[in-house]
Amino acid sequence: MSNDEIIVGIDLGTTFSLVAYVDAAGPHIIRDENGDGRVPSVIGVTPGANGAPPQVTIGWTARAHAIENARATVYSVKRLIGKGLEDIRRDLPYLSYAVSAGPRDTVQIEIDGRRYTPEEISALILRALKERAERHLGRPVEKAVITVPAYFDDAQRQATRDAGRAAGLEVVRIVNEPTAAALAYGIGLHRPPPRARAAASPPGHTPLPIPSCPTADAGGVAAHAGQTVAVYDLGGGTFDISILRLEDGVFQVLSTAGDTHLGGDDFDRAIINLVTEEVHAQYGVSITAPATKQALRTLAEAVKIRLSEQTQAEIELDLGRDRVYRRTITRAEFEHRIAPLVEQTLTLCGQVLRDAQLTPADLEQAILVGGSTRMPLVRQRIAEFFGRPPYTALNPDEVVALGAAIQASILSGKQADMLLLDVTPLSLGIETMGGAMGKLIVRNTTIPCRATEKFTTFVDGQTAIKINVLQGERELAADCRSLGEFVLDGLPPMAAGMPKVEVEFLLDANGILNVSAKELRSGQQAGIQIIPSHGLTRAEVDRIARESIQFAQRDIDAHRRIDLRNQVEFDTHKTEQMLARVGHLLAPEERARIEQDIAALRKLAQETSDLDELHRALTAFGHGTLHLAEIGIREALVKGDKEE
Ligand code: AMP
Repeated sequence: MSNDEIIVGIDLGTTFSLVAYVDAAGPHIIRDENGDGRVPSVIGVTPGANGAPPQVTIGWTARAHAIENARATVYSVKRLIGKGLEDIRRDLPYLSYAVSAGPRDTVQIEIDGRRYTPEEISALILRALKERAERHLGRPVEKAVITVPAYFDDAQRQATRDAGRAAGLEVVRIVNEPTAAALAYGIGLHRPPPRARAAASPPGHTPLPIPSCPTADAGGVAAHAGQTVAVYDLGGGTFDISILRLEDGVFQVLSTAGDTHLGGDDFDRAIINLVTEEVHAQYGVSITAPATKQALRTLAEAVKIRLSEQTQAEIELDLGRDRVYRRTITRAEFEHRIAPLVEQTLTLCGQVLRDAQLTPADLEQAILVGGSTRMPLVRQRIAEFFGRPPYTALNPDEVVALGAAIQASILSGKQADMLLLDVTPLSLGIETMGGAMGKLIVRNTTIPCRATEKFTTFVDGQTAIKINVLQGERELAADCRSLGEFVLDGLPPMAAGMPKVEVEFLLDANGILNVSAKELRSGQQAGIQIIPSHGLTRAEVDRIARESIQFAQRDIDAHRRIDLRNQVEFDTHKTEQMLARVGHLLAPEERARIEQDIAALRKLAQETSDLDELHRALTAFGHGTLHLAEIGIREALVKGDKEE
């Protein structure tokens, strides 16, 4: 990668997304004209008139119309990406848009009879961020580092990368959000001199030899000169906790854990459920209308945020037909309802510390990331758990995007004195005889890495072996997630136990897995690429990318049509004014011709879909009215002379 190349860092959040970059002055969030770096991760779709394509709004505009356009406003899509319908069943009652099962255990969002994949919706958000960056930087942006929750599995990572590709971005690296946050935190620390190993690495290359796996867990590193920190990331939809060691510019993730279904949305739901129950008890009605559901969701979030500042807040919900639900909620009551969720995060904090063989006393800092860490109860419980107040100097909304930009800068060779060593959050393996999970790569192994294992056949003359690739921590294959299956066939018939099949797992720096298998005696091999059971095929990603480019072209066309029509309106109107003023100075035939030209051009502007034709007609109209314009100018000058 050349040193001039720009790679942006993107935090593709459940609630908000941000884009950042690094220049000589350091990392910067790219902000809108109001100074806000956040783009709400919300998409609104309105049907196009007369068969025209649907109009898509993104960000603040979509969020502002979420209530009246409830069925066609998509939010929290990050909860759906890379998932099957079964995985998100408990989210369904809270969504005001329609979700159905897609092919290969994916989910799809249905709006006005058209189906959108979560990747497509995410791609629209990513495209908006790409365009924001291009406007700001004044040049095309084609590469990005995108962050994901550390606990995202292979399917969710692949889906995120696919969304990037569909948005016209090459995703050069997927980085875990807490790791990105630690990078942003680390850059704020006093930077020690570069470490020889990292500094010697050629720019743009992964400076690591690929270690073989399973490696010994990196945990247990005693804190010497550097710092060991916990990154506690509680966002809109997900929770992540990671322990990192920061030393001499090297960021080593020691352990990580999380819950992809625990975040601010769940705290909102505590209020939603309270209101729903009380409305039902008081009025005997259930809140089912999408607009009321959306209004309640918006209200619940606002109340929750108010309770971070105040000790009580008012809730008021118009139920129609002169029924208004009203009540006051105290912070204590709200905290009582959400306490079990906060405790769940602390249980995971305990787990990562155990994985890293550390205790809270070994940590120098607990860094907070994610909007939900503004909640007083969260801060209080973290302080109690880690035995020190959390570090809050970084803006929890921006820290991940800044870290992503720093990683982008490392990858483009501009930050040769820093190195990021991430780990895989979940164990990977294959199903062995009897339905057990045979782990090849254990969780918290540093990536990139490679693991191989040999297997054989159980039946004489067996010519094919099915390999089921699994991800998860449980012992039984049925309790782990199947990432995909493939068959190594064409084996020469041999006695049971004779074939030697070597399965190789290659986990890249993005945490994305490639699996291959080879029978060593015959040399027969199956080159397979894991297409996740939950995910899009390559062809589908390409289709989305094509369509999004087509949509972009349609958007450009729509824009050009509006510009041309405005120009026609302006030019014909000006010409009419000119005719009224100096038309009597023209020959009657010329005047009549110009009047006909005005009518013809206006008609064409309304009727034609050929924008080039309209452009040509507009140019010809300009030529045809030149004489009139000259007379107009001359008359104006003469009049001016007289007035002087
Ligand atoms: P993130 O995914 O990091 O953008 O976090 C967004 C989540 O943080 C949403 O659920 C917000 O409602 C929540 N949030 C933002 N500000 C506050 C606040 N002051 N108090 C409580 N929750 C907040």
